[in-house]
Amino acid sequence: MSKDARNGKQTWSPVVAEKVKELAELIRMERFGGEGVPEEFTFSQIEEIGHQVGQMAAAEVDRTLVDNHRQHFVGEHPCPGCGRLCMCRVAEHDLATRDGPVALPEAACYCPDCRRAFFPSACFAEA
Ligand SMILES: [Zn+2]
Repeated sequence: MSKDARNGKQTWSPVVAEKVKELAELIRMERFGGEGVPEEFTFSQIEEIGHQVGQMAAAEVDRTLVDNHRQHFVGEHPCPGCGRLCMCRVAEHDLATRDGPVALPEAACYCPDCRRAFFPSACFAEA
């Protein structure tokens, strides 16, 4: 993964840009049909539609990436104290994002030898 992908600065491929254009055209057709945007429609009303679709798209991207990210926390992880492999449990909590709720997995492991809980996400943190 590129450093840009980690810090959120991403240049999207022409394929993604084309899909977004297709989405915009689909929204236009669904909202206004063949007549198109009425003359009296204001930019503020147009912007509001764009904003609502953006929130829907953002929430879907969040869900897809969270579901994909969750795979890192399945199974056993080494205890940072003793190295014993401990089973990880994942619970979901609704996170209120700027674009609506997203079910966020929270993974935790418990080491019976050290009698401590640890979070496997720390295992994936960059040094
Ligand atoms: Zn341990």
